Parts: sequence; structure tokens; C-alpha cells
Amino acid sequence: MKFFYPFLCAFLVFFSACHEEEKLAALRKDVAALENSVDSLQKAKEKLQNVPNYTILSDTVRAGEGPFHVFSRLKAMVEGGDADLGKVYLAMQDSVEFKLRVGEKFYIAVDADRHVQRFRYAPNVITSHVVVRTDSGFVYKLVEKPVVRKLSVYEGALEEGSTLNGILLKVGIPRRMVGVVSGVLQCKVAFPLARAGDRFRILLEDSYFQDSIWVSGKVVYAEFEGRNVGHHEAFRYEDPDPKSSYNAHYTESGDALVFDGLRYPLEHLRITSSYGSRVHPITGRVTVHYGVDYGAPTGTVVHAVAEGEVTVSGFDNLSGNKIAIRHRDGTTSWYMHLSARGVGVGAKVSPGQAIGRVGSTGRSTGPHLHYGFRNAQGQWINPLSKTMIATPKLSGERLARLKEQVKDIRKEIDLTLAAPAVKVNDSTDVMVRTRVLN
Ligand SMILES: [Zn+2]
Repeated sequence: MKFFYPFLCAFLVFFSACHEEEKLAALRKDVAALENSVDSLQKAKEKLQNVPNYTILSDTVRAGEGPFHVFSRLKAMVEGGDADLGKVYLAMQDSVEFKLRVGEKFYIAVDADRHVQRFRYAPNVITSHVVVRTDSGFVYKLVEKPVVRKLSVYEGALEEGSTLNGILLKVGIPRRMVGVVSGVLQCKVAFPLARAGDRFRILLEDSYFQDSIWVSGKVVYAEFEGRNVGHHEAFRYEDPDPKSSYNAHYTESGDALVFDGLRYPLEHLRITSSYGSRVHPITGRVTVHYGVDYGAPTGTVVHAVAEGEVTVSGFDNLSGNKIAIRHRDGTTSWYMHLSARGVGVGAKVSPGQAIGRVGSTGRSTGPHLHYGFRNAQGQWINPLSKTMIATPKLSGERLARLKEQVKDIRKEIDLTLAAPAVKVNDSTDVMVRTRVLN
């Protein structure tokens, strides 16, 4: 190496001398550029110094919690800033329906004075609920990232020994949506009578973020056609108000397909006297027994058979302690001879809720529950013939809107059926056709 140095140095001196002017010009340019960037760095630095120094705090939703539980823990973290979190909640309460899941996080940004400046809650990867402090108070903003929507039509048939539920789960449809499909269809389809070869068709709408992350899905349409059970269709109806309780599945003629089967009034059922004519055990006369008697020890818990409002909670010499509950379809369930009543008139009860205890009050030969049912016209009916609470039909403007939506859904099905059919997987014979909407 030593050998080459003289040559190399001579070459460099010669080169530099020849290009002195050019070199200086280049250096000047570099210096100017550096000065410029120092300038912009300075500006960036100033900008950074103007960015408020927020502290981000967060807390996590735990089992069984509503927004208030999380807010109260955040409140405890922000000393002196507690009033603001109430205002944050007020700003979004009309816009956000909190369906919290364990592990979700609420974030707040607080300034140096411990005032809440921002709130953020993201129920999924595409949706963020943001509340920002402005000069005129807290303002709610819904931030949504774009999603791709896809329609898929699944078609298949029951196989020997298979159920619709089982097949749809094998297909890989999320359990919640499978539950919706069978829930709406079982309002019309007597599944125990369905048999191999009976056909189904289902239209699902799925939303994806960045084309592959599944965000949400809904059952738009479900159809079942069976030799014994007939042909039935269910359509998803959407009210203009996304939070409307009318948003559900209906038949084309507007019958709601909300399955609400009755619970049993007692945990163990032993009928000691059924509905209808009988010789009365005390008077000896032939009378009509307007209910069913269930034998049970005094003190056994009595449950409401469905959701409703307590319309009677009282005592008379015949029925003893009695409770009546009016249900959504105008029918009432009756519970008599109770030893104890646990609910008063006006109370709202949920299905299966404990409402009293079995006894032998009133005209009774021993501890039992007399369970009765009146139809919407007030006539006694056999309670064993009552298996579900009917939901109201759509009418008027809503029925007209449903008819339009049914047309749209049929159009979407036809368009999607034009796509090539693909076998979903090897564990079923179900075929799927998919169409991207946007
Ligand atoms: Zn009775």
C-alpha cells in the first residue's frame, strides 16, 4: 500500500486545485441548505413547544360494567377534574350506545391543570367515539375508517343427522350470526320436523377493514324450504333510527320474527290438575278449571314466565295471594295461592325473575301453584297452549318501508347469485357466492 501513496496525494492536490471555485460554490450551497434546515428545525421546535403537554390516562372495562364504572375510576385518577367527565358523558349519551366488552379501553387526555381535553373509545378497529373540549363545551365526533362491505349468499341442504345450526357453524359463520339465523327461522320453522334434503339460503353482509379484518356482519335474509315444514323467509328491516327497537327480522307481510319462548313458572313441574272441566275437590261440583295446578312444597320459588309488567299483586279469599303480569302481546300470566309475593303493581319483570313463593292461601287443599293465562281479550286460555309471546306486526309507514326493503333485498340476492359459486370448505356441501359492494 505504502507504494501508492505519493501517486494518490499528487492526484488529489491536482484535482482540488483545478476545481477550487466549483468546490467553494458547492460548499456555499451546502451552508445555505444547512441554514435553511436549521431554520425549519427551529420552527419545528417552536411548534413542539406550543403543543400542549397532555397526559394520556386509560382504564379497562371489567366484567358486567357500564360506562359509569369506568368513568368513576378515571375520575379517581384525575384529581379535581371530576366534573368534566360527567360533561364528556353528556356530550355523547344521545349518540353512543355503549355495548361494552371486557378489555375495552376508555382513553382521556388531561392537561397540566388536570382538565379533561379529549376522550376516546373505540369499540372496533374502524369506529372511534371522540369527545373534544372546545370553547363552547364538549363536542362529540364519530370517527369512522372506511370499510369494504361484502354480500354473501350461502346455499345448502340439511344432511342426514345434521342441523341447520351445525352446518352453518361448520361453514365458519360467526356463532352470533348463526344464532340470529336459527332464532328468526324457528319462529316459523318447526325444526324437529325438518329432514335431510330441506334447503336453506342465507344472505349475510360483512364489513371488512383493509380488506381482510372482519369488523361486523349482519343477517340480511334467511330462507328455509322443507318437505314437512314449508317455505319461510325472513327479511332484515332497518328503521331510519338505527337505535329503533323495530330493527329486526320480519316476514314479508310484517310479522316480527323475534323468538320469545315462555319460561316455566317452577323449576320442577308436576301437574296435579290440568286445564278444563273437573270435579272440584272442595265443592264436589263440576266446574271449569281455568289454569294448571303444579304441586310443589310451600316456599318453592315462582318465576315470571316472560317479560312484562305486574298488573295485580294482592289477595282475595278464592285465589289467596295472587300476581298477574301483562306481557308485550297483551296477554297476562297469573300465579295464585302464593305464600309470599315479591313484586308490587307496576314492577317490570324479566323472564325467569323470581316473583313469589308457592303456598296454600285462599281456597286450596294443599301447597301448589295455580298458573293461568288470559289472552289479549281477557279470556282464560290453557296456559300449556301458550308457548311464546307474539311480537307486534309492522304497520303503516313501517310496513311500506319493509316492502321497499324486501324488494331491495331480493335485488341484492339476484345480483349476488350472478357471482360464481364456490364450495365453502370440505366439511360441508354449502356453496357461497360473494359480491363486493364498494
Ligand atoms: Zn288451580
